[in-house]
Amino acid sequence: MKVAKFGGTSMANASCIEKVKNVVFADQDIHYVVVSAPGKREKTDTKITDLLYKCNDSIKYGQSVKEAFKPVADRFYTIIEELGIEFDISGEINTIRKNISEGASLDYIVSRGEYLSAKIAAAYFGWDFIDAIELVKFDEDGNFDAELTNKVTAKKLKGIKNAVIPGFYGVLPCGSVKTFSRGGSDISGAIIARAVNADIYENWTDVDGFMKCDPRLVENAELIDVLTYKELRELSYMGANVLHPDSIFPVRKSDIPINIKNTFNPSAKGTFIVPTTHFFDGKYKREDSIITGVAGKKDFIGIALEKSMMNNELGFGRRVLNVIEDNGLSFEHMPSGVDTLTVIVDGHKLSEELLKKVIFEIENVCEPDSIHVIRDLALVAVVGHGMTSKSGTAYKVFESLAKADINIKMIDQGSSELNIIIAIEGKDYEKAISALYNGLV
Ligand code: ASP
Repeated sequence: MKVAKFGGTSMANASCIEKVKNVVFADQDIHYVVVSAPGKREKTDTKITDLLYKCNDSIKYGQSVKEAFKPVADRFYTIIEELGIEFDISGEINTIRKNISEGASLDYIVSRGEYLSAKIAAAYFGWDFIDAIELVKFDEDGNFDAELTNKVTAKKLKGIKNAVIPGFYGVLPCGSVKTFSRGGSDISGAIIARAVNADIYENWTDVDGFMKCDPRLVENAELIDVLTYKELRELSYMGANVLHPDSIFPVRKSDIPINIKNTFNPSAKGTFIVPTTHFFDGKYKREDSIITGVAGKKDFIGIALEKSMMNNELGFGRRVLNVIEDNGLSFEHMPSGVDTLTVIVDGHKLSEELLKKVIFEIENVCEPDSIHVIRDLALVAVVGHGMTSKSGTAYKVFESLAKADINIKMIDQGSSELNIIIAIEGKDYEKAISALYNGLV
């Protein structure tokens, strides 16, 4: 049995939704479908979820709910008209408008794209609609409650043969809607797959699968046939964004493979994401290669500290990290030397003001000899199980970067030997990705 999740571009308009129906009805193993809100119909278009965020802002600035919600309502009316189905959605639209007028939360507002998308798909398929608030549960602190969700969802779906379920949201104990982070419908699909113990979780999108690197940076980049959950985590955390990086947590509990598929090219095999390297035999066989993929991200900031005898000073690292934590930041990496330590933080989360505060507090509690900020860092990760217990990968990484005349600022290799992470200057980012891909893949 399969669970299939369709992303925003697959739900963007009537002709896309028709393709979704063809995919679903061509495979009797697909019993549950999870959908995103309609996405962009063309490059310059706006996703429904973004329209909903805008709607919330417009209302705050005094626009009437009717006006602010109109672009959203119009998109759904057009979809229904073009699908040619007898389905009256005006009651739903009116209820949403009324709830927004009465002060519904931001999470409620932005979740309505998925809600209406699933309502329409269910009507078009002739399947049941099951609201995500009946299935996906968060606790009082807003954390996803995986075990309660699994129990409730398994029970609810037991007697239901086919259903369409909206992605992206669930419910708090108080009854209010709570969303996952952006792109969270991928997580919803994985939750349903776990609850019904699916053989496979199909994630249908608008590309043929996971590429070995960002195809915008390397022409003719190859597709990854098979990768493991761990490799996926590393690559998607570092910017390869085909799938939400948290999607593997639900399916990992039951060892369910994920298959990335293309709604617009359904015969392509796509990419399989399997629990461990033990799955590489048989159906999920993959070619031996040292590197599975290369990914990266820009805009990191390094806070570099130096202090003589730092290595002997008990608690130095803890005090630095306490300051980072107390300021609501998480550190990405922390390369260190005998008397030096650098904390790398996501630059998007560190305003100038916050950076000053953090430096002031570190100076106070750690009394370093010097502290300086390294701006505009990029991180690139070379990922692959193939490099485990094999020599020569780092050599190739450094050789490729040296040949491209790229200066390495920092190096970090996880003890799992699954990845090598290199910090470079932001200006070298694009060049580095292409040098690493060409040198290693
Ligand atoms: N519609 C939401 C977003 O745009 C969730 C999703 O599509 O997965 O982030």
